[in-house]
Amino acid sequence: MTTPLPAAPPATPRTRLWTPAHVLVTRSAQEHPHTAEILRRCEAAGVDDVELLRGDRITGVRGETERETYARAKATLAVVTSPASARKLDPIPPSADWRVDLARGCPAHCQYCYLAGSLSGPPMTRVFGDLEEILAGLDAYVGHGTITSTNAARADEGTTFEASCYTDPLGIEHVTGSLSAAIRHVGTHDFGGPVQLRATTKFADVAGLLDLPHHGRTRLRFSLGPESVVGRFEGGTDPVGRRIEALATMARAGWPVGLTIAPIMPVGDWRTAYSDLLGRVATALEDVHDLDLTAECITHRFTPGSKETLETWYPRTRLEMDPEQRRTKRGKFGAVKHVYPDDVMDDLRRHVTDELAERLPAARVLYWT
Ligand code: SF4
Repeated sequence: MTTPLPAAPPATPRTRLWTPAHVLVTRSAQEHPHTAEILRRCEAAGVDDVELLRGDRITGVRGETERETYARAKATLAVVTSPASARKLDPIPPSADWRVDLARGCPAHCQYCYLAGSLSGPPMTRVFGDLEEILAGLDAYVGHGTITSTNAARADEGTTFEASCYTDPLGIEHVTGSLSAAIRHVGTHDFGGPVQLRATTKFADVAGLLDLPHHGRTRLRFSLGPESVVGRFEGGTDPVGRRIEALATMARAGWPVGLTIAPIMPVGDWRTAYSDLLGRVATALEDVHDLDLTAECITHRFTPGSKETLETWYPRTRLEMDPEQRRTKRGKFGAVKHVYPDDVMDDLRRHVTDELAERLPAARVLYWT
């Protein structure tokens, strides 16, 4: 009698690399050296529809219907110069002292995408060809932070710059190179004071980053959620298992890393789902020496504007965005946000932070929101 071979473990799906179908390059962007690097990467990725525009206006992305516009925009990479608003940095609580944009827009299809309420127009990805100027502008902000620099628990991070407010910089890295350039700049430039570049991602292709001279000044965080949430709502991103592997690979290579547990949602048997998720992370990190790990916890929220846009983009979504089931929170300028009611929030917070303390005691929880 022969012993049957054990079943092979299910293969982890491959890392996704986004390749735009169309690349548009504005006239002004064509003058910048980083644009040449973007075009080199696009060519290497097999993009053959590259249009060098004679002006700075981007047209032709809108289709006959919302559906067509969405599909065309999500398949388009526009190489542009940054607007003045991207070079005058704003504070970005609770993440970082300053928000720095390497690009605006993202090719993935998350049904709760936080860009929906922030960026207007067709959802194409605009990457900034004048990256050198953007990075050169950081010096002026060093030592002036109001979020982490003035928080005793986080002051050791130095002046912090968050690069993933308006894009997923790793998701577009293989055709832009912007994240590598930013890591290299922050790691090697003399800023005259401590600094940290921060980025969060739902992607996993970190191979091209590992050998960069980061000098401990970049913290890459991986956005994680249970399969029951990620599998349903995060189209076009990398699977959770891949993200956890990428997190462990970065940590083993000596990088500061983090978990962005987001968006936290009470879906199905959520207690077990979050416990299992954090258990998987703990297992992946158990052989890492000198682990420098943080955790940021963000519950699901939406605004009237993001709900309207997301329901246009994903008309069949099963994501709960019912203001009746939420508590309304008003921002500094009266902006409305719908968050979970206090009792739900308390339950979520207690469970996730207890599990973090139990399973990942090395993780410093930076904030809960
Ligand atoms: S990966 Fe992030 S930025 Fe991109 S669609 Fe998803 S939520 Fe939006």
